[in-house]
Amino acid sequence: MADKFDVIVIGAGPGGYVAAIRAAQMGLKTACVEKWISKEGKVVFGGTCLNVGCIPSKALLEASHKFVEAKHDFDDMGIQAGDVQVDVKKMIARKDKIVKNLTGGIAGLFKANGVTGIEGTGKVTGSQQVEVTDQNGKASTYEADSIIIAAGSVPVEIPPTPLTDDIIVDSAGALEFTETPKRLGVIGAGVIGLELGSVWSRLGAEVTVLEAMDSFLPMVDGAIAKETQKLLKKQGLDIKLGARVTGSEVKDGEVTVKYSDGDNDHEMTFDKLIVCVGRKPYTQGVVGDGVGVETDERGFIQVDDQCRTSVPSVYAIGDCVRGPMLAHKASEEGIMAADIIAGHKAEMNYDAIPSVIYTFPEVAWVGMTEQDAKAKGIEVKTGTFPFAASGRAMANNATEGQAKIIADAETDRVLGLHIVGQHAGEMIAQGVIALEFGSSAEDLALTCYAHPTMSEAVHEAALAVEGHAIHMANRKKKK
Ligand code: FAD
Ligand code: AMP
Repeated sequence: MADKFDVIVIGAGPGGYVAAIRAAQMGLKTACVEKWISKEGKVVFGGTCLNVGCIPSKALLEASHKFVEAKHDFDDMGIQAGDVQVDVKKMIARKDKIVKNLTGGIAGLFKANGVTGIEGTGKVTGSQQVEVTDQNGKASTYEADSIIIAAGSVPVEIPPTPLTDDIIVDSAGALEFTETPKRLGVIGAGVIGLELGSVWSRLGAEVTVLEAMDSFLPMVDGAIAKETQKLLKKQGLDIKLGARVTGSEVKDGEVTVKYSDGDNDHEMTFDKLIVCVGRKPYTQGVVGDGVGVETDERGFIQVDDQCRTSVPSVYAIGDCVRGPMLAHKASEEGIMAADIIAGHKAEMNYDAIPSVIYTFPEVAWVGMTEQDAKAKGIEVKTGTFPFAASGRAMANNATEGQAKIIADAETDRVLGLHIVGQHAGEMIAQGVIALEFGSSAEDLALTCYAHPTMSEAVHEAALAVEGHAIHMANRKKKK
C-alpha cells in the first residue's frame, strides 16, 4: 500500500487542480491524479480547459480577430497596414506555447501549495481507496479520507460523421489545422461551434454551420440571440438552422455531408468538417464496481447541491456532474468541495453562473432570459441599451450589439443580464455581482460608472428599465 492522503483528486482540469490547491491551502494532505498526455508525450495538468479548450481557443480567437482588424478595420481608423498576411503555423505555435506555459504553471502551483501530483489513470476502488495505473501499466493503491472525482468530459461523436485523421475532426482537431481550409463545415451552432467557425472564417474559410434545432442560441435572451445571428451572418458565417446531419462520405480529400431540413435532403462538400455537437461526461471506468457511486443513464455522476455523491467520502465536480460544462463552474465546485471536506460551510449559487461566447462581438449572459421569466409566470420589466449609442463603442469601432437587463416587475430585483457586444465577457461580471447581491435595477442605475467605458451600456440599460436612459430616446413604458 502506497501513501495515505487526506484528499485525493482524480483529474487535474480546472475542477480538479483548483480543488487540490484549495484542499492543500486548508491544511489537508492532498494528491491529484492526472493522465493527460501532451503533444510531447508527457503527463500534463490543466485538463480540457488548458490543453484543448478555453485557453487555446481564445488564443486563436484573439489572433484571428487581430488579423481581421488589421485587414479590414485599420484603414477606417487612418492606419495603413499594407498587405496583411496570416501565418497559420505560427499562430498555432503561439497557441501551443501558451498551453505549455499554463500547464507547466499548474505543476508549479502544485509544488508551491504542497499538492502531490500523481501521473497515471485513477480509479476509485473503495470508498477511501484509489488505484493509479501509470503509463507502463504499473498499478499503485492509495488511501484517502476523501476523494474528489473531477474526470471532466469528452466531445460527443455522432454516427453520421465518424472522425477521421484529418478531415472530420472534433473541437481539439480544429485547433490544429496547419492551413485554412477553403470550405469548412461545422456541425452544431453551440458555443464551441460558433467560436471555432469564427476562427477559421476570419482566416479566410467559407464556413457553413449546420444546426439541427430551429432556434438559435435558445439559452440566450431572444433579442440578443437574434442580433448575434444577424451579426455572425454579416461576417460570413452561413448558419443553417433546422439542418440535421444524417450522413457523410470522405473521398479524395474532401467530405460530403448529407443533411435534412425536415422536408428535403441536401448535400454539401467541405475540405474539413468540425463536429461540435456537445460534450459528454468522461466517467467510464473511473469508479470500480461495488463502490456505490451512482451515475445517471448519460454517465453523469449523481451529486447533491454540494457535490456529494451517494458515497459520503466521495465528491464529484465539474463537467462530470450536472450543470453547465464551464471551467469556472468546475473551479467553484472544486473550492466548495475542498472547503466542505476541510470542515467549513460552503455553498454555490447555481443561478449566477455566467456564460460567454467569444465571437466578435462577444455574447455573454447570466440569469434568466425574458422568455424564461415569462414561462415561469414572473412579470418582468426590461431595459436595453444599444452600443451604437455609446461614445466608447464608437471610439473603439465596436458599435454593434446591445445590453439588456431583465428585472422583476414588482420588486425591481435583477433577474438577468444578457449582452452582445465587444468585451461582453468582461461586462457580464456586473450582472453576476448584481445577482449575488440581490441588487435591484435601480441599484445599478444609481451606481457611478467610469466614462467612457463599454460598461456604461449596462448602466444605461438599468436606467432604461424605468424609461430613464440618458443617451437614447426611451421607449414609452406601459403603465
Ligand atoms: P476537464 O477540464 O475535462 O479535466 C478533466 C481531467 O481529468 C482531464 O485532464 C483528464 O485527463 C483527467 N482524467 C479523467 N479521468 C481520469 C482518470 N481516470 N485518471 C486521471 N485523470 C483523469 N469553458 C469555459 O468556462 N470557458 C470557455 O471559454 C470554454 N471554452 C471551451 C472551448 C473548447 C474548444 C472546449 C472543448 C471547451 C471549452 N470550455 C470552456 C469548457 C471547459 O473546458 C470545461 O468545462 C472544463 O475544462 C471542465 O473542467 P473539468 O475539470 O470538469 O474537466
Ligand atoms: P452545444 O451542446 O452547445 O455544444 O451545442 C451542440 C449543438 O449541436 C446543439 O445545438 C445540437 O442541436 C447540435 N446537433 C447535435 N446533433 C446534430 C446533428 N446531427 N446535426 C446538426 N446539429 C446537431
